[in-house]
Amino acid sequence: MEADFSLARERMVKTQLIPRGIKDPDVLEAMKSVPRHLFVEEALWGEAYNDHPLPIGEKQTISQPYIVALMTEALELSGNEKTLEIGTGSGYQTAILAQLSRKVYTVERIRPLMTAARKTLAELGYANILFKAFDGTLGWEEHAPYDAIIVAAGAPKIPEPLLEQLALGGRLVIPVGNRFSQELIRVTRKEKEVFTRKEFGGCRFVDLIGIHGWKS
Ligand code: SAH
Repeated sequence: MEADFSLARERMVKTQLIPRGIKDPDVLEAMKSVPRHLFVEEALWGEAYNDHPLPIGEKQTISQPYIVALMTEALELSGNEKTLEIGTGSGYQTAILAQLSRKVYTVERIRPLMTAARKTLAELGYANILFKAFDGTLGWEEHAPYDAIIVAAGAPKIPEPLLEQLALGGRLVIPVGNRFSQELIRVTRKEKEVFTRKEFGGCRFVDLIGIHGWKS
C-alpha cells in the first residue's frame, strides 16, 4: 500500500509541480516524502494526491498540492528558519514546513483541527513543531520575530501584527483579496520599516477569520 502512495507522490511531483515551475529541490523532495493521504480521512486516501483541495472537516480544506508547493517555495527556506504558520488545518503544510525549517510555530483557530493535526504529526515523528489554538491574525507574539510566516487562509488585507512579527530579511506569504478569489503575495522585510512585495498569481482559499481578518 505505502509503495502505491509513494508512486502517487512521485507522479504528483512530475505532473503537477515540475511542469508548473516548482524548482526548489528541497521543496520537491519534501513533497515527495510527506504522506499526504494520512492528513485526510481514509475514504479520501485514493484522491489524496490528485490536483485539487480536499475536505478536512469543520468546513475547511487541505490545499491543492501545487499551492502548498508554490507557497513553500516562495518562503525561500534554507533549513534554519523559525517559521510561523497560520491555519494548521490538517497539518499537511505544517509537515512540509517542519522538514524545511528549524522550528515551526503553527496556529489554528478551530481546536479539534489543531488536536487532530498534532496527533498525526506526532505519529509521523515530527519533534520541531509547537501548536496553539488561537486567532492567528494576531500572530504568536511570544516567539517573534519569525524568519518566515505563511498564512493558509484568504485575508481581506495583510494583518498588521504579522508584519510586526517578521524578522529583518523575513518573508511573509499570504493570499489577499475578496472572499472568492485572492492574489498570493510575498512581503519581504528589507529594513525595519521597508517592505517589498511580489505577486505569485491568483488562488482561492477558505476565509481567514479573526480580529485582523474577516469578521466570521
Ligand atoms: N494548510 C492547511 C490548510 C488549512 S485551511 C492544510 O494543509 O491542511 C485554512 C485553515 O485556516 C483552516 O483550518 C481554518 O480554520 C484556519 N484559520 C482561519 N482563520 C484563522 C485564524 N484567524 N487563525 C488561525 N487559523 C485560522
